[in-house]
Amino acid sequence: MAKVRTRFAPSPTGFMHIGNLRTCLYAYLFAKKNDGAFVLRIEDTDRERYVEGAVDVIYSTLAKAGITHDEGPDKDGGYGPYIQSQRKSLYLDYAKELVEKGGAYYCFCDKERLDSLKDGNGVAKYDKHCLSLSKEEVQRRIDAKQPYVIRQNIPSDGASEYDDMVFGHISVPNEDMEDGVLIKSDGMPTYNFANVVDDHLMAINYVIRGVEYLSSTPKYNLMYDAFGWERPHYMHLSPIMKDAQRKLSKRYGDANFEDFLAKGYLPEAIVNYIALLGWSPKGNEEKLSMNQLVEQFDVDGISKSPSIFDEAKMRWLNGEYIKQMSVEDFVKAATPYFEESKAAGKYDYSELAKLLIPRVEILSEIPDKINFLEEFGEYDVTMFEHKKMKITKEIALANLKTVRQDFAEEEDWSDTALKARGMALAEKTGCKSGQIFLPLRLALTGVATTPGGATEMAQLLGKQESLRRLDFSIDLLERNI
Ligand code: GLU
Repeated sequence: MAKVRTRFAPSPTGFMHIGNLRTCLYAYLFAKKNDGAFVLRIEDTDRERYVEGAVDVIYSTLAKAGITHDEGPDKDGGYGPYIQSQRKSLYLDYAKELVEKGGAYYCFCDKERLDSLKDGNGVAKYDKHCLSLSKEEVQRRIDAKQPYVIRQNIPSDGASEYDDMVFGHISVPNEDMEDGVLIKSDGMPTYNFANVVDDHLMAINYVIRGVEYLSSTPKYNLMYDAFGWERPHYMHLSPIMKDAQRKLSKRYGDANFEDFLAKGYLPEAIVNYIALLGWSPKGNEEKLSMNQLVEQFDVDGISKSPSIFDEAKMRWLNGEYIKQMSVEDFVKAATPYFEESKAAGKYDYSELAKLLIPRVEILSEIPDKINFLEEFGEYDVTMFEHKKMKITKEIALANLKTVRQDFAEEEDWSDTALKARGMALAEKTGCKSGQIFLPLRLALTGVATTPGGATEMAQLLGKQESLRRLDFSIDLLERNI
């Protein structure tokens, strides 16, 4: 059996759509699962869409996503060049070969004639007019420098069929397909031609790509057949949707890999999540490393129906990844968020990390969770009221006063020592521990949710600041009862 070769063929647009990244991932997983090669090819023939620096975005995306290509513009595997614009010169010769073999023909029709073929809706289907030109006539016109295109010669009747690995049997009546342009009048290939020539020359035997190419594939197969080349296998993938009607879009900030990195998602969690969008592993485990994905990936699990992107689920999964991070890795990933918070530079980031690791789902939650460290002032004292725990503002005030007095004597301002003091106070006063610790936590922070319990917050703030805040809160309560 020939070695499996798959490819990812992005156009350099400057960003990486989540759907494209998933296509890339599946092509990678399929290659690795089968000990094959994964090839990166840059499809930059559409110069109008070309964006400076966009190829670097592709490299950096793959690197961040942990997808390593075996061959590509920066890794020659003997099938290059891997950038389409550097392959320009070879397409015309192949088009001429296809003409020789009857799979294509020269067309000299001008715009006027093409316009005259349009129906009431402005849609034209080329009528094979130039197919009947004799070889001599064609040569005469080429010699006379008449502009031409080269068109595919699609049989007028019958149907073109193939078996897609995901969608099953596909059959398209030949009369529904047009003799599309393969080489434009400027000598450049169209995508429809270039992808066939490139995939063949790069020995790609498994073509994995978006479903929008499902119905064009019979045309490509006709070219393979006319050349006498072996057809590849195909795996087309359904789109990823925002909901039943809408696609993911830039406008909602949910279309591109970069959008999610900016929101504080970890690349490995994004990759894990999108692997599951359109593919179901056999087991129940959803948190899967790249190695596990490679091991478990299998075409049977790929779904034909569009998948719905569920950001809440990706957020949850991201939280699971964060929980397993080491303090060191977390600090590294979270530093930009620490830096943009009000607590920037003022706390030991490792200490903050220990508190935050079990409590954040995405890194961008960090500033909100720690701003209270530096931002403390008037707040709403109704926050102290807690029916279930039987806490009123009065009880809160009384307990805070007791705590203030007792804690002031503590020399070892640590979570453990302070917790012990709090517990002892509860015992002594006959309160439930929550009636001590909840008011304390609120009084120290002024916010309802904090990245840790009361005494952890006290340790973080230090003795002086903690006592200052307790005094402030006691005064605030006294003024508002
Ligand atoms: N350059 C095409 C795209 O970005 C690739 C299509 C294919 O994989 O054949 O959609």
